[in-house]
Amino acid sequence: MRRSSSTGRSAVPEQLGFPGMPQRLFVCTPSKLGSFIDCPRRYRYAYVDRPTPPKGPPWGHNSLGASVHTALKNWFDLPADRRRPGVLPTLLKATWVREGYRDVEQERAAWRAALAWLDGYLAGLDPAVEPVGVERTVAARTTVLALSGRADRIDARLTADGRRELVIVDYKTGRSGTGPDDARGSQALALYAFAAEKVFHAPCHRVELHHLPSGTVTAHEHTDESLARQVRRAEDTAQDIMAAEAALTTGTDPDEAFPTTPGRLCSWCDFRAVCPAGATAEPKDPWSAVESTLHPDPAPRPRAADED
Ligand code: SF4
Repeated sequence: MRRSSSTGRSAVPEQLGFPGMPQRLFVCTPSKLGSFIDCPRRYRYAYVDRPTPPKGPPWGHNSLGASVHTALKNWFDLPADRRRPGVLPTLLKATWVREGYRDVEQERAAWRAALAWLDGYLAGLDPAVEPVGVERTVAARTTVLALSGRADRIDARLTADGRRELVIVDYKTGRSGTGPDDARGSQALALYAFAAEKVFHAPCHRVELHHLPSGTVTAHEHTDESLARQVRRAEDTAQDIMAAEAALTTGTDPDEAFPTTPGRLCSWCDFRAVCPAGATAEPKDPWSAVESTLHPDPAPRPRAADED
C-alpha cells in the first residue's frame, strides 16, 4: 500500500509491525545514503516521490565519466594479450555517451582528452594483472543495512609483509585532483571495502582514488575500527531515512520530513527546477563542468555521478 504525498504518490511502503517483529533492513547503496546526507529533499525526489519529479537535462560530465568507466571495464574484459593501447580508440568509441555536451566541437575535445587519460593511465598498469573484480557488485548485511554497491575495481595485492589484501579502486574524471581527505573520508569507498571483505572472505583495508586527468592516486589505509565507524555512520543515516519515511506514513508534511539543504550542490542538482530552494541557485549549463575539466580554472566544481 502506498500513501499520497503533497508532491505525488510516495514509494514508501507502510509497515505493519508487532512486538518482537525483527526490524526490516534498510536496502541501500552508498549512493542512496550519500544522496540523503547531501540533501534529504533530493533523496525524497529521487527515491520516495512517485512519479519521480522531472529531472533537468543530462550532464556532460556524467556522460564523460560513464564513457571512461565503461571503456576501462571493457579493457579488463579483453584477454590480457589484447590489452594494448591500439584498442583504446575502438573501446572508447563503442562506449561513448554523447549527451550533455555544448556542441560537437566540445564533444570531440572531450573524446580526445578521455583517450589521452586512458592511454596514460593504462600505460602504468601491467596488462597481465587480473583484478579480482571490475564493476563488481559487492553486498553485505548488518543489523540495520542490506547494503550493496558496485566498485569500479577490486585488486588483490601483497602487502609489505607478504599478506594478500584486497584494494578498492575508484576512478575519478572530474577537473580537480583528489587529496588524502577524499580517500579517507569517502563513506562509499569504506562501505565497498567492508562489503568486499564479506564477499571475498579476504581482508580489505586500502581504498584508492585514481584521478585519470592528472594520473594521480590518492590512497587511505583503513583499520578495522575506521571501517566499523563508517558502517555505524551509514547505519545512523539509514535510521534517519527510515524515521523520515515513517513520518510520511503518519501524516507529517513531506517537506518537513525531508527538508532542503541549500548550498553549492544546488546548482548541479537534477531537481533544481522543481525544488523551491534550487530556484535561488545559480543555474549551470549541462556542459560547464566539462568545460572546466578541459580548460581548468579556479571555479568550484560539481560532484560527478562517479563520485558517489
Ligand atoms: S536544489 Fe538543493 S535543496 Fe533542492 S533538492 Fe537539490 S540539493 Fe536539495
